Amino acid sequence: MPARPRTRGTDEGEPPSIEWVLAGRAYVNGRLQPVEIGIDEEGWIRRVARHIDSDRRHDVGEGIVLPSATDLHVHFREPGDPEASEDLASGTLQAAYGGVGTVGEMPNTQPPITDADRLRDKAARVAGRTHVDVLLYAALAPGVRVASLARVAGAFKLYLSPTTGQPEPTRISDASALLASAAETGLAVSVHAEEPAYFHDTSRVGTVEGWNAARPAPAEAYAVSELLSVAPPSLRLHIAHVTRAEVAAQLRRAGQSFETTPHHLLLSDRKGPDARFKVNPPLRSEPERRELLAAFERGEVPCLASDHAPHSLDAKRRPFPEAPSGMPGVETLLPLMLQRVRDGALAFPTLVAAACDRPARWAGLPQGRLAVGHRANLLVVDFRRSRSIGARSLHAPCSWSAFEGFPAIFPREHYRNGEALLLDGEYVGRPRGRVVRPDYAPGNDPTGPG
Ligand SMILES: [Zn+2]
Repeated sequence: MPARPRTRGTDEGEPPSIEWVLAGRAYVNGRLQPVEIGIDEEGWIRRVARHIDSDRRHDVGEGIVLPSATDLHVHFREPGDPEASEDLASGTLQAAYGGVGTVGEMPNTQPPITDADRLRDKAARVAGRTHVDVLLYAALAPGVRVASLARVAGAFKLYLSPTTGQPEPTRISDASALLASAAETGLAVSVHAEEPAYFHDTSRVGTVEGWNAARPAPAEAYAVSELLSVAPPSLRLHIAHVTRAEVAAQLRRAGQSFETTPHHLLLSDRKGPDARFKVNPPLRSEPERRELLAAFERGEVPCLASDHAPHSLDAKRRPFPEAPSGMPGVETLLPLMLQRVRDGALAFPTLVAAACDRPARWAGLPQGRLAVGHRANLLVVDFRRSRSIGARSLHAPCSWSAFEGFPAIFPREHYRNGEALLLDGEYVGRPRGRVVRPDYAPGNDPTGPG
């Protein structure tokens, strides 16, 4: 559990002890203005004001300060094949470079995280090796001991369709009881919602467009409708990687948390036979992509997540039906969208809400806002410094990106608990990431006043 600040707000007499001050500009009350952030020695935000007296100050001038992102959906493939193109150390380093301060690491590893011992083993791999904090998902599947997993896990993941490392999906008819037991634990559940009964034969598919046709959008719409009908109202439910504006609107009407990914927002199925663009759920058509992006930019999608799932280029060069699904994305998640802000397409507060604030609230983590009582997990960006993404300048061991050539704005500085991970875009941190679990303290409740 994260260390708690000795005081939250002003309820105790002792004045907060501010260790250092980060001075720059930030959006406060909807306006970009000069702001100073007072950070205590335990890495919590103690004060946010126009001016704070302190001997230790770091002034970033025109730099813009924002909270680091919480990416609820990554696959760092550990434990797993040592030849796999990722592990917790390499994945969290990319997160640090991309401005992601906390990752939600998925349980479909080898072996999958289906019992508390495996979860403890995975937690032990975090200490001393990870560069940002890690929320560990446990698999929610028939036969798992939900209550025992809940004592160690940060959240649950439920697969309604086959996925890498977990070929047997849970049927919607079995999901109801599982969701009810998860609701009793208080932990949140993220769902991969595609109904396999809608899938066509994928063994002869040779293009990204064909992949879209073989795992069509109605598979997603059906699974989401079924889920909404069986999920207990008290459950903290979240739908992973929504690909269609229609489904987003349905979830919004139902008041449910959900995410979409930069690849579903920025890439469509016009990629021919290039299996680097094979992902689940598939990239959709260009008009569908544009509709989803428009909904995101109107602020109608609560969360942004990467579904970072790298595979080596060799694996992606296999014949299309055999090539694995997934692409890397944790390092480019925020930079791609910061570029949309710079271009005037996306409002900065809309991005901060989707990438930083709402994912943290859903996961019950006291971060994602420039506010007293929140962790000093912060970024500094400079909108004048845009550069085009080149796989070689990224830090992914798989050494490719579907966003090669896209302009992006990478963070200049990144702080975890007030300690620098990046300065001037270079990694200066230490692997001090920790396992984080929900903290349902007042003011950090996603159902509370926002
Ligand atoms: Zn995934």
